[in-house]
Amino acid sequence: MATGFDTDVVVIGAGIFGLSVAWSCVQRGMSVTIVEKATIGAGASGGVVGALSPNVPENWSPKKQFQLDALLSAQAHWAEVDATSGLPSGYGRLGRIIPITNARGLEHAQIRTEDAKSLWDGEAFWRVEDSAKFSGWIAPESAPFGVIHENLSARINPRLACLSLAKALQVKGCEIREGWEMTAINDNEIIGPSGKIRASAIVMAAGVACFPYLETLWGRNAGMGVKGQSAILGGVSVGTAPMIFGDHTYIIPHANGDIAVGSTSEKTYDDPFSVDEKLDIVIERATTICPALRHAKIKHTWANVRPRARKPDPMLGPIKGPAGLYMATGGFKIGFGIAHKCGETLATMIAGETTFLPKQFHASFAEANKK
Ligand SMILES: Cc1cc2nc3c(=O)[nH]c(=O)nc-3n(C[C@H](O)[C@H](O)[C@H](O)COP(=O)(O)OP(=O)(O)OC[C@H]3O[C@@H](n4cnc5c(N)ncnc54)[C@H](O)[C@@H]3O)c2cc1C
Repeated sequence: MATGFDTDVVVIGAGIFGLSVAWSCVQRGMSVTIVEKATIGAGASGGVVGALSPNVPENWSPKKQFQLDALLSAQAHWAEVDATSGLPSGYGRLGRIIPITNARGLEHAQIRTEDAKSLWDGEAFWRVEDSAKFSGWIAPESAPFGVIHENLSARINPRLACLSLAKALQVKGCEIREGWEMTAINDNEIIGPSGKIRASAIVMAAGVACFPYLETLWGRNAGMGVKGQSAILGGVSVGTAPMIFGDHTYIIPHANGDIAVGSTSEKTYDDPFSVDEKLDIVIERATTICPALRHAKIKHTWANVRPRARKPDPMLGPIKGPAGLYMATGGFKIGFGIAHKCGETLATMIAGETTFLPKQFHASFAEANKK
């Protein structure tokens, strides 16, 4: 630890981004303290859906490559975390099916089958199959042109994954202070009602709360919260069925037999944490695609706000402001799929080493981008 500091790295926020940055820093031998104003996974990360899914294999870009690398390394990452914590994250590479509803969709899916072979380096497939292969799981009338079946997608239990990662961090010596709210940041120092912590690096991973802070630095809007509503359904036995994504809706079988259904995408809302009739519509859509859900019972509902930067890309890395300050936010709808790779990238930056990050993911890119 550098002299004069309480810890090498202080992380603000115990959501999936903060925990993941902490993990990679700890793995590099840095001392890390996490402060969390509420409890572990209290924000967007404490949810129930947990799709880790790729973008379509076309128009390849460094952003898509970053996500592919993250998805391909997720299994080993979560296996290591769970082995360290002794807790389950619920990770499972189930694959995904997507109903094809028209001839144009079929044509595109067939072209992408070939693209996936080269772009995904033979690590996973994307192909068109008859929906009858998934009979009893997907309604044939919802997939009149067949289904896309890809085996890159995985699911995780977001809430359990945060707990597993937090426990693994504690096993490795990381301190997590719950109920500790950061109220100000100075050079190499954060302040809260419970005192101050001096650190060589400060990582702000406070989810949507990063945006008002950035607005005070930048003098303009930095991002927004997009509300999502979701549900856990029980009472349906699905065996080893893949997850489904159709009509903007995810249907995800979890390890304990529950099925997650989500989510809404709301830019305006009164209460970020309540559910309403918009969730009924999501469940109805899911039931149309997957009639097995007709007899399911709603066990639990959940809503929260995803951190979406102005360009909907993660914001990672140092920014102009107090000395030692780094940003780690903007996971938006794919936060769980990329968090461990974002964490690894941040830790490399903090260590002062060179790392590749798509330019759009640099916090400094968002900082410089006025539009
Ligand atoms: C309904 C819904 C469904 C989703 N589905 C998926 C999905 O299927 N797949 C996927 O990859 N992603 C999904 N997401 C998105 C994903 O959950 C987010 O991208 C991710 O959780 C963001 O993590 P984060 O750590 O940046 O933010 P958060 O989880 O919000 O963490 C920020 C933490 O910072 C704390 N904090 C804030 N201010 C302070 C402060 N001043 N001092 C101390 N602590 C502070 C908060 O309490 C919070 O715990 C979904 C989101 C929602 C809402």
